[in-house]
Amino acid sequence: MARYTGSKCRLCRREGIKLYLKGDRCYTSKCALERRSYPPGQHGRMRRKPTEYALQLREKQRAKRIYGVLEAQFRNYFTKAERQKGLTGENLLRLLERRLDNVLYRLGLAASRSEARQLVRHGHVLVNGRRVDIPSYLVKVGDKISFAPVAKSSPRVQELLERAAQSSPPAWLRYDPNAETGEILAFPARDQIDVPVKEHLIVELYSR
Ligand code: SF4
Repeated sequence: MARYTGSKCRLCRREGIKLYLKGDRCYTSKCALERRSYPPGQHGRMRRKPTEYALQLREKQRAKRIYGVLEAQFRNYFTKAERQKGLTGENLLRLLERRLDNVLYRLGLAASRSEARQLVRHGHVLVNGRRVDIPSYLVKVGDKISFAPVAKSSPRVQELLERAAQSSPPAWLRYDPNAETGEILAFPARDQIDVPVKEHLIVELYSR
């Protein structure tokens, strides 16, 4: 499957905010955005008044980059969101939140969504006891997420289990440190999705 392979920090600098794409490094002084807080490229420091279209486009790019989704797949999520009842923008974010890689990250079982993606792709993650190696798998209410027994021998997975035991996931998720299992309690409401995205601008962009 196609994926972005360029510099992750460049994406944060383009968006002008921390997207936390590199896990623990993002919380240290090594964060590129803290050292160079202007957009990348030769004209990065030039100030231009953005057009309405540029603002809408920026918002879409930001959402794609946060969740690590490329254009075609993002468009598919939008089409699906449009068909659902309710506000399209909120439906869109809810679908993105339901991705298995995002849920793993939200539970604290990965330091970043890209690490979560790798763990899933390598077959280390079980949903209801069955291996699922598709990062875009959409979780359902009641699903239980855990690591495969063989993965637990890895020191990194042990670190992540300890991390999850100490972190507090959003209210729509629960993590049981004794069973080393996360559970989906409900689908998230908009105020439980803490991403700096104005989803109505994405809807406006695709409605042009
Ligand atoms: Fe973004 Fe993390 Fe790089 Fe900082 S270290 S620029 S938050 S990816």
